Amino acid sequence: MTQERKVALVTGASRGIGAAIAQQLIQDGYFVVGTATSESGAEKLTTAFAENGTGAVLDVRDGAAIDALVSDIEQKYGPVLILVNNAGITKDNLLLRMSEDDWDDILNIHLKAVFRLSKRVLKGMTKARFGRIINISSVVAHFANPGQANYSAAKAGIEAFSRSLAKEMGSRQITVNCIAPGFIATEMTAELNEDIRKKMNEQVALNRFGEPQDIANAVSFLASDKASYITGTVLHVNGGLYMA
Ligand code: NAP
Repeated sequence: MTQERKVALVTGASRGIGAAIAQQLIQDGYFVVGTATSESGAEKLTTAFAENGTGAVLDVRDGAAIDALVSDIEQKYGPVLILVNNAGITKDNLLLRMSEDDWDDILNIHLKAVFRLSKRVLKGMTKARFGRIINISSVVAHFANPGQANYSAAKAGIEAFSRSLAKEMGSRQITVNCIAPGFIATEMTAELNEDIRKKMNEQVALNRFGEPQDIANAVSFLASDKASYITGTVLHVNGGLYMA
């Protein structure tokens, strides 16, 4: 059944930042399709979203799966008018020890997936003469962190990609922006030991990790009409860790 509500697609909605973004967009009145990598994760999302959305299985490394998912959404609910590219992992290592597989995997999950998903939804957005593409980058695209050459390169690539696309699509009223989170309390940062977490906190002006909701609030703004004249930018949400 085609939705009267605008359809938002949030990748990696099963946990952490993506879960908070999906819930916020539902509160904002969108119909949300949230992805997880497993059937069980997707089912949990379908149950949690009830009539306000649905879960779907997606590995963002799989181009054919991206194509099939967006076609399915378009057919069942209507065009994706808000795309939040959030899915991501880290595979940290010093470059001397970094395998080519770990380099490729991070570039595929972050940068190539953003290319594929953005390209796939543009047709629907162009037709609607409205679109919001919001890419979750990272402070490490700007602020050096040893052991994250792959991840930093991918995130910096996403930001440069977003600026080009913002220029290309602006005349259709499609905006393309990034949010660069600092240290946010999720499973991704829970892996860090207490000593590193303490050192990280000391670098943050607000002296604490952010919450997924802090990023969801920024997405809510960039998706809204209040942000209709903002495109090609990076919104830093980092508690004063890095000041652009
Ligand atoms: P998280 O809690 O570890 O959650 C990662 C999400 O991505 C999960 O929903 C996971 O799905 C999904 N995912 C992982 N690999 C995937 C793949 N190959 N295909 C599709 N989905 C995949 O991570 P997070 O901390 O919320 O991070 C979310 C985004 O924010 C990422 O892009 C990350 O780089 C960025 N970020 C995070 C921080 C931070 O401090 N946490 C800081 C800066 C930027 P499953 O549950 O099915 O595994």
